Amino acid sequence: MSTPFQVRSLMVEFGHRLYARHHIGAAEGNLSVRLPDGRIMITPSGINKGYMKAEDMIICDQSGKKVQGIGKPSSEIKLHGAIYNWRPDIMAICHAHPVYATGYSTARIPLMRPILPEVVGTIGGVPLAPYGAPGSSDLPETLAGLIDRFDVFLLEAHGVLALGKTLEDAFNKVEIVERFAGILYVAEKLGPVKELPQKEIERLLKAAGRLNIKDEIMQHIGPAAISADARSVEVEQAAAASVQKKSGAGYR
Ligand SMILES: [Zn+2]
Repeated sequence: MSTPFQVRSLMVEFGHRLYARHHIGAAEGNLSVRLPDGRIMITPSGINKGYMKAEDMIICDQSGKKVQGIGKPSSEIKLHGAIYNWRPDIMAICHAHPVYATGYSTARIPLMRPILPEVVGTIGGVPLAPYGAPGSSDLPETLAGLIDRFDVFLLEAHGVLALGKTLEDAFNKVEIVERFAGILYVAEKLGPVKELPQKEIERLLKAAGRLNIKDEIMQHIGPAAISADARSVEVEQAAAASVQKKSGAGYR
């Protein structure tokens, strides 16, 4: 089992990788690890993760209160704490804003279509979690209906959130999503994109231990399903516009 001293070096390494791979810029993104005693080591707020140092890491208790470190913990500490409470199997979390995946999250298009075997056979698919202001206490609520069966999420108009057994596992899931988003974007420019055969989808999900999401994945097959995705975005937009009109309030 890793000591907090070893974990903080790993956090620095993966923060630098996120930055080097252009998955984050400026002070974006955050990483955390659940320590053996249940406390959470998290990256600091307001510091570029591409340049951060081991001594910048913060340790918080399970409620998100800082117990060790110099700076402020990431503003997403509440979200990380909620996830560790919900999912005892998760030991690390990685959040980033990679360009293609964040583009899909901003266009409000989930990455659920079963197109690439490497995606279906690992993370299954990537649902879109409804908008919650970054750092706010309503962000954890947006994941409540998805957290039991998915490990990676598009956060609407925000970025990617990946959960892992280790920091490397969570980082790899961010990379899988970003590569999928980039490949899908290019493929759709080149011609119609076809989903894998249903039997193959089922085989891959079974191998990944994800048959529990089979029905949700199958809903994203074929032109009818794709246009239904687009229609539901339009319906939601119309509903949000009418709420805004009635209340005279802003988006949130
Ligand atoms: Zn973010």
